[in-house]
Amino acid sequence: MGYVLGLRCRECGAEYEKQPTHVCELCFGPLEVAYDYDAIKKTVSREKIEAGPRSMWRYADLLPVDGPPSVGKQVGFTPLVKAERLGAELGLNNLYVKNDAVNHPTLSFKDRVVSVALTKAREFGFTTVACASTGNLANSVAAQAAEGGFDCYVFIPSDLEQNKVLGNLIYGAKVVAVDGVYDEVNRLCAEVGDKYGWAFANINLRPFYGDGSKSYGYEIAEQLGWRAPDHVIVPCAGGSLITKIPKAFREFEKLGLLDGPVNTKIYAAQASGCNPITSMVKTGAEVLRPQRPNTIAKSIAIGNPADGYYASDICRKTGGGAEDVTDDELIDGIRLLAQTEGIWTETAGGVTVAVTRKLAEQGRFGRDDVVVIAITGNGLKTPEAVKDRLSVELGIAPTLAAFDAEYELRYRLPNLEKELVPA
Ligand SMILES: *Cc1c(COP(=O)(O)O)cnc(C)c1O
Ligand SMILES: [Zn+2]
Repeated sequence: MGYVLGLRCRECGAEYEKQPTHVCELCFGPLEVAYDYDAIKKTVSREKIEAGPRSMWRYADLLPVDGPPSVGKQVGFTPLVKAERLGAELGLNNLYVKNDAVNHPTLSFKDRVVSVALTKAREFGFTTVACASTGNLANSVAAQAAEGGFDCYVFIPSDLEQNKVLGNLIYGAKVVAVDGVYDEVNRLCAEVGDKYGWAFANINLRPFYGDGSKSYGYEIAEQLGWRAPDHVIVPCAGGSLITKIPKAFREFEKLGLLDGPVNTKIYAAQASGCNPITSMVKTGAEVLRPQRPNTIAKSIAIGNPADGYYASDICRKTGGGAEDVTDDELIDGIRLLAQTEGIWTETAGGVTVAVTRKLAEQGRFGRDDVVVIAITGNGLKTPEAVKDRLSVELGIAPTLAAFDAEYELRYRLPNLEKELVPA
């Protein structure tokens, strides 16, 4: 453990000591963690990883920490589900769902980035942690701050879903609800961070935080039998996760851990009501046009994404692409995944499933290609999305006669009509 050389500017290559900062002083480019891959190559192996804990920390040699995790030891190693019935629906024989809807402890992929960020916060000596969030990040910071005994402030747009708000308060976090969109929350947090000197998971700790997402990619490759898939469809908010999945595959390749080459095509998924990244990919634009979000997919509604440029670049460079879907389509996506695979995802997952369907209809995938859908959050957190579409009936009397009547009326007769009416 401890193979971090320092930080390096993604744009100009300037090097920095390991420290809680995220912007290059010379060119304002984003900073990335630089690793000593030669040293990692000497220690890492499939056998060592396979013998490790059943969590993201089996990849500790490739994560930007200097010692063992101080919080979130159980995060990650979520199921990679072979999606037979959804695959049949989409005409795909090798479709998989990487299911972070059941990540520990707060049911989204954000538990990965937060486990790393708060471990780093402790290493740097911070006692107060914070974040600017569209919901899931706040939940995870709140929970893992409680686990680690940090003082915790989470900043969220004031119109978030109820369960995402409760999912902060229950852990005792101080919740700052801001009347504004995420980009305004984020700008405020940059100022708060400067003034109060707190560890903001996704601002001053962003280089470390972002690399927690690599574990999602490592797991996909290991769970496919040490191979990279042909296609991955990824929901985008700030655009960080989508850059880290291919980075994970390339690192594994460089370290000699994979069978076969990495030719993975990466696709961005967004809601049409907030699609700065997918519209950039689809139009071939060179600059990102910020937007004001208008979608129920709030967890991925970032109008001015920090890594938007790199996100669209990775879609183009890998030969993948991007699509976006309406709120109605994303709700259909949630229901399709639930009714074919028994997995209830939140709005962002509905976007990803609906975008995958769209891409399949466009003929982007070969029938036997290995396709992975990134499911990043849990439907129990956003019941608002489907509540109006699902009717809850009043109760019946506890008698067989009452059930017979109910069965005739609600289940047999409607189906009979369907049979009688020619399609
Ligand atoms: C935050 C989030 C994303 C996207 O994360 P970025 O790395 O910011 O693009 C995707 N899905 C869900 C459910 C999220 O909460
Ligand atoms: Zn720079």
